[in-house]
Amino acid sequence: MIKNRQLFLQLLGQTSGSPLLLEISRAEGVYLYSPQGEKYIDLISGVSVNNVGHRHPHVIKAINEQVDLYLHLMVYGEIIQNPQVRYAEKLLSFLPESLNNCYFVNSGSEAVEGALKLARKFTGRSRILSFINSYHGSTHGAMSINGSETLKNKFRPLLPDVYFMKFNDISSLEMIDERVACVVVEPVQAEAGVIWPENDFLRLLRNKCTSTGTLLIFDEAQTGFGRTGKMFAIDKFNVVPDILVLAKALGGGMPLGAFIAPHDIMNTLAYNPALSHITTFGGHPVCCAAGLASLEVIINENLVEKSAKKTEIFKECLKRSVIKEIRGEGLLMAVETGDKNLTEYIIKHAPEYGLLLDYFLFCNTAFRISPPFIISEDEIKLACGKLMNLIDDGLKYLDEKLS
Ligand code: PMP
Repeated sequence: MIKNRQLFLQLLGQTSGSPLLLEISRAEGVYLYSPQGEKYIDLISGVSVNNVGHRHPHVIKAINEQVDLYLHLMVYGEIIQNPQVRYAEKLLSFLPESLNNCYFVNSGSEAVEGALKLARKFTGRSRILSFINSYHGSTHGAMSINGSETLKNKFRPLLPDVYFMKFNDISSLEMIDERVACVVVEPVQAEAGVIWPENDFLRLLRNKCTSTGTLLIFDEAQTGFGRTGKMFAIDKFNVVPDILVLAKALGGGMPLGAFIAPHDIMNTLAYNPALSHITTFGGHPVCCAAGLASLEVIINENLVEKSAKKTEIFKECLKRSVIKEIRGEGLLMAVETGDKNLTEYIIKHAPEYGLLLDYFLFCNTAFRISPPFIISEDEIKLACGKLMNLIDDGLKYLDEKLS
């Protein structure tokens, strides 16, 4: 184990100086297991990916069946591959009629890249608007529209003609005019610490985009597949974008992204020039088979409907005066402590209590709870009990440190 830790740090590119450094050898349902047999309740789902839990039998079966037929055949868009067609058919049946054409890629970042290119090409405009504290990915284009200076500063020059609006600020809508190709928004700002739209903001945003011929792009990489308490935030807020970005849970635990648009808009990428966006592995058949199976589980087991009650149980069980609020109306919650040091302590020490928790990129006073939807009521109560012990110990530790 120590050797593996050394090799991990030495041989693998690191994303920060403080990785979790848990070694996991197996995962099942809501649990992750170490090689020594310690188990951790997964309260994160690999950041909103494993919505149906780890290794759901229906997903594993679909993967195995596809592995027995074929893996990669040819670059995306040339050969008719059954898993892509079946998945697009099922997925689009849950979306508004206008969103009727699906372009599969590999990740959220790539889906955002595709959506931005599509909006620029379709409108012939260059300007892109996004939001302060938004997160859309780590590739150069997607990063250009991230609403955090800290993450972007060292990579300039970035995409030109990109400006930032303030989420929930109606006066920001004035920035939208006939020069703007698209506005990209997370309907619920996830990495900002689960900030929900207020004052009919999304509807007003939709109206302003419509009146200026600007395409509205919803990035539902995190909110998609049930995390707002509805299958998509589109349903929750009753606002339909021109382009929808999906990723994370889309692949049921396998890497997959997609941008979805009306057929006539999407077709822009196929002509003048052809091949305006291409990808070797996008829509990989095994990933599409897994994603379709995962969506079937969500539907067949009524996981989204059941998530409302589970969200409530978390909120009822997590009672401590230090918890200022719990944001979120689905199984994507931000537990706000208002205290950076306490939040850091809680996340860092969670594994010692048999829990896996995580930070938000742009909110250091809250921690994330986004468990697999299959978590049972008993498991929620168990996790909350452990969490309260952890919070109490954290408060004691910080108190002693200060005194
Ligand atoms: N959009 C949103 C809203 C995200 O949360 C993320 C990932 N956290 C992305 C895009 C980028 O996805 P990926 O990491 O798959 O590139």
